[in-house]
Amino acid sequence: MAVSCPVCRAPGAAPRLRKDGIEILSCAACGTGFWQPGPDFDPGALYGARYFEGADHAAGYDDYASLEGALRATFARRLGALGPPGRPGARLLDLGPAYGFAVAEARRAGWCAVGLELSLAAAARAAPVTGPGGIAVGNAQRAPFRDGSFDAVTLWDVLEHLAAPHAAIAEVARVLRPGGRLALTTGDVGSLVARVSGRRWHLYTLPEHLFFYSRDGLRRLLAAHGLRVIGMRAEGARYPIGYLVERLRKSLLGRTAQRPLRFPGAGLSLPVNLFDVVTVHAEREAA
Ligand SMILES: [Zn+2]
Repeated sequence: MAVSCPVCRAPGAAPRLRKDGIEILSCAACGTGFWQPGPDFDPGALYGARYFEGADHAAGYDDYASLEGALRATFARRLGALGPPGRPGARLLDLGPAYGFAVAEARRAGWCAVGLELSLAAAARAAPVTGPGGIAVGNAQRAPFRDGSFDAVTLWDVLEHLAAPHAAIAEVARVLRPGGRLALTTGDVGSLVARVSGRRWHLYTLPEHLFFYSRDGLRRLLAAHGLRVIGMRAEGARYPIGYLVERLRKSLLGRTAQRPLRFPGAGLSLPVNLFDVVTVHAEREAA
């Protein structure tokens, strides 16, 4: 059966590779990779408490809370690149904030920030991190906010998890004011590391990643909703050494552990840039 690209709509996506019993297709027109989960795929169940702290569980994280320091440093730097709030009371929406570290950092930077989180388990952990009114529970593809009510929207390593990217980006465009900014990060399937790693690329993380975007695919997706790309570059992030070991274990050995690894120095974080994660800044055009 011919499958059209869910991002650029071009017909005839072809199989690229198979991993964990899942066939990932590739769009010849925009280069984006994707797979389409069946009707039994339930994100609400996938992103339960075990996703964030389940060392014995292949999906997700051994211990997401242990990443707090590294994630906060990364989010603070990404928010710095997005720019200051610009005016008192400027509003920022963070989609898929997990434990809310990016919302907390945005508030520290002077934004009036709120996160919209699908996972009830994560939102419960985020509430004390962000402070009052910092977290709403809901689906990014149906954001419960008024048109034009945000100055900035951020999606940090979230877009690849969303089954309906056009619905999500349409919501981003709807809630942004004209001239408002979108900042997002996602894996770059066209990067050298992704291409040479093949099916062992560390961002072919299944089943949570549904899309493997190319820069061209991102440009087309955003343009379809009046979001003009103003910057695209590969930036690094900080990761604790323990987490890097966890990722290597999962992507190279395909193994889970019984409990989070603990060893001296595991909590120290390092800057890492494999040039395979792209940061995109876009501006909402006037209607
Ligand atoms: Zn495409």
